[in-house]
Parts: sequence; structure tokens; C-alpha cells
Amino acid sequence: MTKEPITVAAIINGEKIHTEKKIQRENPTHPNEIVGYAPNNTREETIQAIDAAFNAFKTWAWTDVDDRINRMRTAIQKIKDATPEIAELLSREHGKALYDSQGEIAISLMWMEFACDHVKKVTAPETMEHENGKTIITHDPIGVVSAITPWNYPLSLSTIKIAPALLTGNTMVLKPSPLAPLAVSRVTEIIADEFPPGVLNLVNGDAEVGVELTSNEKVAKIAFTGGTKTAKHIMKAASDTIKKMTLELGGNDAAIVLEDFDVNDERALRRMVISNFLTAGQICMIAKRVYVHRSIYDAFVEKYIEAANKWIRVGDPFNPDVTVGPVNNKNQVDYVKSLIEDAKSKGAKVIPLGTILNPELMENGYFLQPTLVLDADYQDPIVVEEQFGPTVPILPFDDEEQVIELHNESIYGLTSSVWGEQEHAISVARRIEAGTTMINTAAVQGLDVRFPFGGVKQSGVGREYGEDGIKSYTETHVINLPNNLELPYIPE
Ligand code: NAD
Repeated sequence: MTKEPITVAAIINGEKIHTEKKIQRENPTHPNEIVGYAPNNTREETIQAIDAAFNAFKTWAWTDVDDRINRMRTAIQKIKDATPEIAELLSREHGKALYDSQGEIAISLMWMEFACDHVKKVTAPETMEHENGKTIITHDPIGVVSAITPWNYPLSLSTIKIAPALLTGNTMVLKPSPLAPLAVSRVTEIIADEFPPGVLNLVNGDAEVGVELTSNEKVAKIAFTGGTKTAKHIMKAASDTIKKMTLELGGNDAAIVLEDFDVNDERALRRMVISNFLTAGQICMIAKRVYVHRSIYDAFVEKYIEAANKWIRVGDPFNPDVTVGPVNNKNQVDYVKSLIEDAKSKGAKVIPLGTILNPELMENGYFLQPTLVLDADYQDPIVVEEQFGPTVPILPFDDEEQVIELHNESIYGLTSSVWGEQEHAISVARRIEAGTTMINTAAVQGLDVRFPFGGVKQSGVGREYGEDGIKSYTETHVINLPNNLELPYIPE
């Protein structure tokens, strides 16, 4: 469905700003079609946005939390009302299937509602009377937050930051990825319109804007989701002014299938396939390597291929039968292809999965036929690197010690999953180094916005979602009122 390109604006101090230099976003399904344009903001405009947030913070920090909640709830309703339009725009600029875009909006709204419901509890001052007097602990806003987000889940990874930051009294400058800037600009505009000027600002661009957002001394906190390599630049850029940080980074999440997994459980196999190929594999928490106990390996692979061939239907995101759309961008297509070619050249077997529903799109669109990779080596790049695309290696293991070591030797530790008899699976899960481990499910299917989400090791710092995800936008302030105002420990 070709449409006229749209143009979204930056938002600085409540004003919608259009620039001459623009970011052009094409449709990954039909790359000749331009979906829209976002402003390509300069460093100077970024500084203006930070200044606006800095000035707005002075009053926003002291507003009543009920007022903030009411504004956010109005925005939630407006996003709900606009869901069909936003989902369509997201599928056109991103390439994810329409049901997947609708799912992303639903998760975003669920989280925004959770944040509204829980912010009062999380930020309520605590007062304690004790033998030394009285202590009041408050949970205060931090200041200006720079939020920088990736292209794969632009709406949920932006609202995951916007809602708790604004509800706890912070102000924000958001910079989405140039590879999916349109739908998120629309959502940000809806939210920003409900808040005073300067509370929520939006700029677009790439590294130049990102560097200002992460080094400017008026920025107090960085909330970043993206690649581990980029996060290393960000930590350096932020070090001169010691900023608070939440970093949600890359992963190489493993699924471990124990010998007591039932290979005839079709629904479990379908969950596994979805956890490998949803959003064409472009999710931080997708299961990117599968280790299967050797005693069931052959049977598992056979049943897995059957399940994959049933569920995976590749094509136009707007075809209601399609489950897997194109990859978001050409670089990602080339990168995933290079990993597959490398594995093939070393003797791995590559098995195509699923059905191509719209073959006419495959040549020009950024499509990749989903694949299963067998007989790869444990240390091959396709196993140890984050592929972020529609391919998955399945490898056998002999005993638990070996598979736990294979799991834990990764530099990453975002999510993971263990499949098999429940108690057995829990005992293995306890030994795994990851932020989240799911039992008999994985990836977004096991995600619950009520609980903290984040990575260990080089997969991140801090947590989003859950009450921890709200608290991470506050500073703890202790006000002490001692009974004894003498100075007992200091010599006269
Ligand atoms: P990326 O790191 O290339 O870009 C992320 C954002 O950082 C973009 O907005 C980009 O413009 C910006 N950026 C680039 N250089 C910058 C710099 N020097 N300073 C500041 N900002 C800069 O990541 P991507 O390719 O957009 O996203 C894919 C990655 O994100 C994958 O590694 C994936 O695992 C990760 N991710 C993690 C989570 C999580 O919750 N842990 C969720 C989604 C994606």
C-alpha cells in the first residue's frame, strides 16, 4: 500500500520544529517507497532541547504526582485511539508484521499504565521514628534525562523510558534511531502535547546528536537501549560529568533444551520457533542459540523443522497470514548473510524454514529466508555473535556442566530459557548468568512488565520495567533529625 510520505517534526520546548536537512526512511518491504522524513537535527538544536528540558525541570520536579498521572493517562487514551494509524506507520517504516506492531503498542500501553498505577507507591516518602530521632527518606527526580533508543522496538523502548521519567518529575530529551523514527515521533508528540513545554523534547539524528546528549553537563541521566559497542562510547562520553545510567544492551540469549523436554509437545515447539523468529529475529531477547541434549537432538531437530514450517510465513507485513516480515535495513541483511556464509564455509548445514507467501517481494525488499543452522562449531561467529536476524543455530550438548559453561562463557547475559521438566529446569536456571531466565518459553512471550528487566555482564547496567524501572529515575534523599544535637565524638 503506497502512500504519500509523511514528515515528522522535532519537539523543542513545546514547539514543532522542521529542518531543511532530513532523514529519509524507506519501506523495507518496497525500498523504493519513501515512508517519511524526520528532521536531521544539529548539535545546536540538541543543545536547545537540553536547555529547554533543564529549564522545565525547575518547576516540573515540584509538580503534584496526581497531576503527572492524569496527564499521562490522557496520553495513554490518545495513543490507544490512534493505534490503527500508528501500527500501520510502524509496519511500513520498520517492516514488522502488522500484528507485531499492534503487539508493540499494546506492551507500551501496558507499561505506561503500570507506571501510572505504581509511581505513587515507589516515590512515597518514608518516615521513620527511631532511638536516635527521626529520618525522612524521599525519592526525588534526577533532572534532565537523555533517552536514546534503537530501531527494533522503537515505541516500547521509548515509552519504557518516557513514562517513569516524567511521572517521577524528570524532564527528557528523546532521540530515536534514524532507522525507525516516524511512529515513535507520532507517539512522542501525543505524549508531549499533554505536558508543559520543555518536559518532553524530541530530536532526531545519529551519533552527532547522541554525543551531545551523552556529554552535555546539564544532562543528569542517560537511559540508553542499543548495541554494546555504542554503549562503550556513551560511557566514555558521560564520564566527565559522572551521569547516572541505565544501559539495555545486546544479548546472545541461549535456549537450553534438557533431556526431559517432550519433543511431541507441539505448542512448546511453536513457542520455541516464535522465540527464535518473531520480528524476523530482531529482538534483544530473542533466543539466538539453542542447545539440545544429545539424547533427544535428532528428534528435536525433526520436530522443530515441522513446527517452523507451519508457523513461519514470510511476506508483506500487511498480509494477515504473514508471521515474519522483512529485515529492517540492508546493513542488517548483509551482516546476517555474512554470518550464514561463514558458517557454511566451515561445513555447517543451512536449512531454509517456512513458506514464502509473497515471492514477488523477495528480490527487492530487505527479505531473508529464515534458516536453521546445524553442525556449526560452538565458537563460530553465528553462535557467539548476536545475529539479530532470522537465523538460529541448534547445537547438541552432552551434560549440564558443559551447557552451563557454554551459556556462561558469553560476554552477554540478557535473557535465557530452559526447557524441560519444571523443577529440573529451575535447577539449571539457578546457575545461569542472565537478567531473566524463562522456563518452557522465551523472548517476548515470557516478558512481564511488572518485573524488572535488564542484563548482566556486557548486556547492561540497571533495570527497566517493574517498580525498579520506576525507581531508577529517582535519587534517594535522606533527611535526618537526630534527637541528640551535641557532638559526642568530637573532642572539645
Ligand atoms: P545502536 O547502538 O547502533 O543504536 C542505538 C541508538 O544509539 C540509536 O538511536 C543511534 O542513533 C544511537 N547512537 C549511535 N551512536 C551513538 C553515539 N556515539 N552516542 C550516542 N548515541 C549513539 O543499536 P541499534 O542497531 O539501533 O539496535 C540494535 C541493538 O540494540 C542490538 O544490539 C540489540 O540487542 C540492542 N537492544 C537491546 C535491548 C535491551 O533491552 N537490552 C532492546 C532492544 C535492542
